[in-house]
Order: sequence, then structure tokens, then C-alpha cells
Amino acid sequence: MQLLVDPHTHTVASTHAYSTILENALAAAKQGLKVLGITDHAPALEDAPHVLYFQNLHILDRELYGVKMLYGAELNICDYEGRVDLDETILEKLDYCIASFHTALLKPGTKKQNTKALLGAMDNPYVKIIGHPEDGNIPVDYLELVKHAKETKTMLEVNNSSLRTAYYRLNVRENLMEMLQLCEKYGVTIAVGSDAHFANAVGNFDCAIELLKEIDFPQELIANTSVEKFSKLLGREVEI
Ligand SMILES: [Zn+2]
Ligand SMILES: [Zn+2]
Repeated sequence: MQLLVDPHTHTVASTHAYSTILENALAAAKQGLKVLGITDHAPALEDAPHVLYFQNLHILDRELYGVKMLYGAELNICDYEGRVDLDETILEKLDYCIASFHTALLKPGTKKQNTKALLGAMDNPYVKIIGHPEDGNIPVDYLELVKHAKETKTMLEVNNSSLRTAYYRLNVRENLMEMLQLCEKYGVTIAVGSDAHFANAVGNFDCAIELLKEIDFPQELIANTSVEKFSKLLGREVEI
């Protein structure tokens, strides 16, 4: 299985990540990726870049080292209604957004509250992917999540970093298995993301691919197996 898009990577703009956009792009080219998404943390997280960083992304090259570049954000889900931390005037200028529940910012609530938060974020038309929804520290009703992903055409992420560093997230494999079985049943598309915080991890999907193979997950429901499929899910047709 070859994945051509890495939709989830961070750069030095988030100071707990350690590579530049150029370093990530070069790594993506070496990995044979066709599309790379730069999705730094939106401003509510303590060491995230300022809002001006997101406003100015339009100055960047659309292609680096032969890799098509997309510039977005990993938004923080700020409350149980699913509100996020960039307003529409900025969101409309970005290529796409991931929305994630980060416990550093929002304390995990009940399963009902957490699910409501993720569903609320999916109702935001700029949110195209729900990031790492597999952390057992944030219990979620996966049936509700998958059904709403279907309704809103939101991709659910299989996050390679969560699988690699499962020590700080809980029941990652078990929760992913449950979510993926439901995705298959309801025909919901997933996006595999490296969530790289260092260039060496860009395009590294090893653990995710191993899991998807193990459960024989249908390739047609994996967004990053085709640039066209991915761009269509972003609502961008084949611009990229
Ligand atoms: Zn995250
Ligand atoms: Zn991330």
C-alpha cells in the first residue's frame, strides 16, 4: 500500500516540533510523497504560532522539491460544543484544517461531552479531518463519531504517531480497531497522518499501514492512496 499524501505535519513554528517547512518538504520528496500538508498547532495551544503565522501562509511556494504543498492548521477543540481557535476570516484562507482534542487545553469530559465536542467540530465546514480520535483518555462514542463523519464528509485520522508512541495515549489500538470496523461498515473515509514533529517522521506510516493490513481495511476508504481522492475530500477537486 502506497500513501501519497501526508496531511498532518508540524514545523518549528510549534516550538515542540523541530524541523522547518523546507526540511519537511525535502523529507516528503525522499519518501515519494506527492502532497504534503503543513498543519501547525492553532494559537490556543501554549507554544503554537501567533495568528499572523496563519494569515501569512499564502506567501509560501505551492510546490517544493516536486511536492505539492498544502498549508493548513491543526485546530484545537476549545469546548464541548466543538468550537475551534481560529475564526472564519483566517480559516477561509487555509487549504484545510484538522481539528483535534488536546488534553493540555480541554479537560476530557464524559463520553457524551467528548463526543459532542468532536461532532461540533465536524459541523465546522473548514474542518476536513478529525485528528487522533483514538485516545482512550478522551472516551468517545465511535458509532456517533463515524455516523457524523459520514454526514459531514469529514475524514477520521489514523495517526501514526499515536500508534508509535502509545504510552501517552490510552488503548490506541483497541479504539482504532473499533473505529475502523465502523468506518468500513458505514463507508467512512479515513486519512492516515504521520503527525510528524521532526522531518524524519514525515511520510512514515509504518504502524498505521501494519494495522490497516492486519484488519484488511478497504483501500478505497483510505483518502491518501490517491491525490485526486484526497483533494476531492478537501473540496478542492484536482487543483493540487
Ligand atoms: Zn494533535
Ligand atoms: Zn499534530
